[in-house]
Amino acid sequence: MAAALDPVQAVPFVRTSGKAIPESALHYGVSNQASGTPGGNRFDVEMGCAYTTEVMEIASEFIWQTFQQEDEERKNVTQVTLTVESFDGVAHTADNKIHLSSDYIASYLGDVKFEIIGVIFHEITHVWQWNGYHHDARQGLIEGIADYIRLKAGLAPSHWIKKGSGNRWDEGYAVTAFFLDYCNDLRNGFVASLNCLMKYSYSDEFFLELLGKPVDALWKDYKIKYGSLL
Ligand SMILES: [Zn+2]
Repeated sequence: MAAALDPVQAVPFVRTSGKAIPESALHYGVSNQASGTPGGNRFDVEMGCAYTTEVMEIASEFIWQTFQQEDEERKNVTQVTLTVESFDGVAHTADNKIHLSSDYIASYLGDVKFEIIGVIFHEITHVWQWNGYHHDARQGLIEGIADYIRLKAGLAPSHWIKKGSGNRWDEGYAVTAFFLDYCNDLRNGFVASLNCLMKYSYSDEFFLELLGKPVDALWKDYKIKYGSLL
């Protein structure tokens, strides 16, 4: 197992966590509906269903650890599936079902295994993160937290924008991920606390509550620090 999981070996908890997943309560399923197509075949060669299942388990562990969640604090999910199939786009997740595009896999230039693992970490975050009680959290923040997880796992791809980029804190994806990383440097565990607060509601005031400054002021500080405001 260790030899096969090279990109994920960078994830710190693999070496430090002794916690086992309660396997009876949570099942992972992977299926490749695109076998025989260029993307489906590339997925089989680079990843395969068994290895992808391992990556999903490791990603979940990493997310729970980053969110500082004990078993009873996690979402009550019993099954997470991933399906490789043909569609426009990269991947999306709804109802604990991840869909990964075989067309994207076929056309990706570069280390597609590293990319797929990064995409899985992002998508599985959508399974485990809280999204306000009425799913009313800002969509850019939801996407930013998913890419924050990918960033912290050492899986940020070279095609991401630079730290300090962006016009708004809630633009989403890497823009918001780097901003959240800055916020977490101000207070270790910030992202975990933010996710925890987002279980029952959402408000921009959570930034003020946790860091003592409104989110717009934090964004300004961040832009000044990384030299991209002036
Ligand atoms: Zn997403």
